[in-house]
Amino acid sequence: MSFLTIIEAFRDFDFEGHFNAVTDQDVRAALAKDRLTQKDFLALLSEQAAPHLETMASKARKLTLQHFGRTMGLYAPIYISDYCSNHCTYCGFNSTNRFNRRKLTLAEVETEARLLADTGIRHIILLTGEAPAKTPLTYLEASVTVMRKYFSSVSLEIFPMDEAEYGVLNKAGADSLTVYQETYDREVYKQVHLSGKKRDYDWRLLAPERGARAGFRSINIGALFGLGKICQEAFFSGIHARFLEHHYPNVEIGLSIPRMRKAEGAIDPRNILDDPGFVQFITAFRLFLPKVGISISTREAPEFRDKLVHLGITRLSAGCKTDVGGYAKETDTDTAQFQISDERSVDQVVAMIRQNGYQPVFKDWDRI
Ligand code: SF4
Repeated sequence: MSFLTIIEAFRDFDFEGHFNAVTDQDVRAALAKDRLTQKDFLALLSEQAAPHLETMASKARKLTLQHFGRTMGLYAPIYISDYCSNHCTYCGFNSTNRFNRRKLTLAEVETEARLLADTGIRHIILLTGEAPAKTPLTYLEASVTVMRKYFSSVSLEIFPMDEAEYGVLNKAGADSLTVYQETYDREVYKQVHLSGKKRDYDWRLLAPERGARAGFRSINIGALFGLGKICQEAFFSGIHARFLEHHYPNVEIGLSIPRMRKAEGAIDPRNILDDPGFVQFITAFRLFLPKVGISISTREAPEFRDKLVHLGITRLSAGCKTDVGGYAKETDTDTAQFQISDERSVDQVVAMIRQNGYQPVFKDWDRI
């Protein structure tokens, strides 16, 4: 069984009616449990749970300490190509945006890797747009091989591939895979993905499962908040993570909660996830998925990220550039995938983590 079967079962589910019917008693009952059902999770995502935020936060904090200790993983992205043949309406790299696109040579990949490694970062995410003709498997394989010289963990955030292709990159040294579904709502998915291979909802939805079967030790998923209805997106992200945990027990599952940011030529968010809602979702995720890692990127503002350290997150990105060759550039350009909000250096983020009583972790995994 794949997650497609699970999500199809919710095709006619009346989310609005269900959320409206949640009572204070439902929320209290969910908070009293150690293992939450899907119904409990829905209750904690509902408006009725908002007055219970303090209790949720305190439970989330306790669970995070129990499973992850006082540690905070650090990572950063490296963009190696911004060629893309998709038209995703929320992204600055979409195929209709006119700018000088770039793909790094392997020598430039190495320069980026060296500069980022100099900051202390040891876990990275390697990113491209979706343009297999420009960034074929052989190029990605060679780039991963270069990255492995500098980093103990190389995660991929590239276009969805088949199992055999994932296997090649895993063998080359990529250990983790990130695939955001962007929106779990099929109708919205169609409206925001106007052209290109990414229009294939099912192909993308099943990519994490192909990645798990191909041997990645860790898979990161999530929705881009701002596209579909926020509570529904949170619900599907959560049950997707639980499905993967259950079916691939040897794979570490992670979740991210990216909120849409401004990008050149991109649409504005259709549904806003505000800060209190964001905190509610993080704590609900932690209560529903006690062992799942939760990452927060530099899309979020520094003051907000600092507060989240205590609320259930386990990984922070730091010192990030979201344009191709960004670490080697003297000045920022306007050709980034999206604008970042937290521009602090790795050292500054490390200092903040320590001030909050946590231990920054640069490396917690290496392949022998
Ligand atoms: S989100 Fe990814 S696939 Fe879509 S336009 Fe941007 S880079 Fe391309």
